Amino acid sequence: MSTPARPESVADPGDGGAVAGSARRQDTRLDSYVDRYAARTHGMKASAVRALFAVANRPEVVSLAGGMPNIADLPLNVVGDAMREMILDVGPQAMQYGSGQGEPELREQICEVMSLEGIAAHPDDVTVTVGSQQALDLLTRIFCDPGDVVLAEAPSYVGALNTFGAYQSRVVHVGMDDHGLDPAALREACASLQRHGARAKFLYTIPNFQNPAGLSQPVQRRRELIEVAREFDLLIIEDNPYGLLNLAGDPLPAMRSMDAERVIYLGSFSKTFAPGFRAGWVLAPHAVREKLVLAQEAATLCPPVFSQFAVSKYLSSHDWRGQIESFKSMYAARRDAMLAGLSEHMPAGTTWTRPDGGFFVWLTLPEGLDSQAMLPRAVSNRVAYVPGTAFYADGLGSRNMRLSYCYPTPERIIEGTKRLGEVLGRELEL
Ligand code: PMP
Repeated sequence: MSTPARPESVADPGDGGAVAGSARRQDTRLDSYVDRYAARTHGMKASAVRALFAVANRPEVVSLAGGMPNIADLPLNVVGDAMREMILDVGPQAMQYGSGQGEPELREQICEVMSLEGIAAHPDDVTVTVGSQQALDLLTRIFCDPGDVVLAEAPSYVGALNTFGAYQSRVVHVGMDDHGLDPAALREACASLQRHGARAKFLYTIPNFQNPAGLSQPVQRRRELIEVAREFDLLIIEDNPYGLLNLAGDPLPAMRSMDAERVIYLGSFSKTFAPGFRAGWVLAPHAVREKLVLAQEAATLCPPVFSQFAVSKYLSSHDWRGQIESFKSMYAARRDAMLAGLSEHMPAGTTWTRPDGGFFVWLTLPEGLDSQAMLPRAVSNRVAYVPGTAFYADGLGSRNMRLSYCYPTPERIIEGTKRLGEVLGRELEL
């Protein structure tokens, strides 16, 4: 089964930014409404590399840029049967307005999904959202006033950074080592804020197969981070879209399984089923959940009921755990292809992470090279990536790039690394 080529106007959540959009839309000189916008829109800028991504989307270019899950393996007949059954069973209800918190049956199933990561949750504490992206929006909306500090890994998920920016929060980055977010760096960031009479509203972290770095926090590291959070009375937002895609074995226990009051957990069906349903969720302490539902009602009245019934039927009628295992084999082959391709084709002085799951490898260029400056030349050589600067709120990352292995075939991935190696070789000669 092949997946049709993407139309140019499809947004790429994976965050290299949307590929759509035209230079015209970015040009405020043509915007006669410019004096009317709220101050919070000032930080909303189209990515500088967006125009290039439209080119990168052409079939001759191997795009290692996008973060789209590869859903070609989903058995469409099974999904189709589930949808038909759902419509015949509960069609009128599925096409009606629903609960602002989300449909009860799906919330129960979500608790079952989370139990795979050691979480014991009650469906009352789950709020369904339009992907975990909306969860980020709602949480920032209820916690952050303009100027409030949010702590986030350096680098971090660009979609989250954009959301924090949209609410005029100030992102303070916290360093990582090979085991993800560094507890000593977190302690220092909290202490430094404290010395200035400030406190972060929350820590945003992606413990599993981090986007973009591909790193994961071992269990002991999670405990240490929670200890630091307790020391400084810090709230943690654990964003976990990739946790079940652990190519090395069973999922690790979630941070939320270690502290139910301090950790707000975000989950998503985008990577374990399909992103088009836009089905994600938040598991939050009771009081926070109440505020979330009010914010959800103000934003959407209710998350899409049709999608929720569809996902619910898929989960109850299909071996979704088996499907995740099949996704894992497919992604493992792609991850292996990328690591083999990089070993073969990267020039000396280049380093990269070796993820145990998720979608991404984070590459560090030899000294003197600039990933953003060389992107047009890479695209001319028919390979694309996301420059590292996209994943920092403070302009760092010019020697880094994010490479994703989720979407192209293993053969294309190898070819992409070969083309990238050629570009790096030429850059080093400049
Ligand atoms: N968080 C992270 C770390 C992601 O990588 C993504 C998607 N790429 C999201 C959240 C949003 O995912 P969705 O809204 O599809 O659940």
